[in-house]
Amino acid sequence: MPAETRRPLISGNWKMNQNHYEAIQVVQKLTYLVGKDDFETVDVSLHPPFTDIRSVQTLIEADDLRFALGAQNCHSEDKGAFTGEVSPVFLQKLNVSYVIVGHSERRELFGETDAMVRDKVAAVLRNKMTPIVCVGETLEEREAGTTMDKVTKQVRAALEGCSPAQAGSLVVAYEPIWAIGTGRTATASDAQEVCAAIRSTVASLASAEAAGAVRIQYGGSVKAGTIKELMAQPDVDGALVGGASLDPEEFARIIQYRLHEPSEA
Ligand code: PEP
Repeated sequence: MPAETRRPLISGNWKMNQNHYEAIQVVQKLTYLVGKDDFETVDVSLHPPFTDIRSVQTLIEADDLRFALGAQNCHSEDKGAFTGEVSPVFLQKLNVSYVIVGHSERRELFGETDAMVRDKVAAVLRNKMTPIVCVGETLEEREAGTTMDKVTKQVRAALEGCSPAQAGSLVVAYEPIWAIGTGRTATASDAQEVCAAIRSTVASLASAEAAGAVRIQYGGSVKAGTIKELMAQPDVDGALVGGASLDPEEFARIIQYRLHEPSEA
């Protein structure tokens, strides 16, 4: 599948920010800023904290908004004695479409392993949602020249047990850990190089068709001023945006990257 047939996906990861009242305000502001036309060319998912999801769902459905609902994590089992965890079944019941899996903050701060990420990918797919699987290297790994090894290993683990069709339905977010929340961004050509390697890994593990279909996002301090050049790369199909997605005006400009030159963003 050529790059221009993959629909770009811009995702806003609010992390542990915005209570459910604030979340409603952010979505309402975004609704004024992002017009129906914008959604003709781009998919947009919003990933509020769990406690906000029902409120955001109600607003999206009541006003027939085109934002897709997302979650930031889920458990790999559908039910059971897992105090404090959230079942993928519950998310599916709230009409969640995308679930972030293996965000580097989950991996680094909460000990999520490649095997846990693999099981979560399976759980999200089993419940008819789309995983956004995060992969990426630390600064030490980049400086040691092991970026490709790390990222390939993470993709390999995440795809274990996926059929070629499932592999093609995934979203993979390449997020260099040193670029998350730091204001540092990978250059567009570095992002392209790693995203291309991710696509080749999907081709070798699944199929050429799956590799052509899988959507690959870049994430790491994306701003309105940097998005356009990133999106011009042939293997970058979208962005996972943290900090900048909390500001409706900045996030709207990211969504509307086609309309703005980097200098005016
Ligand atoms: C993220 O939360 O995945 C992220 C990339 O954050 P930021 O855009 O703030 O770097």
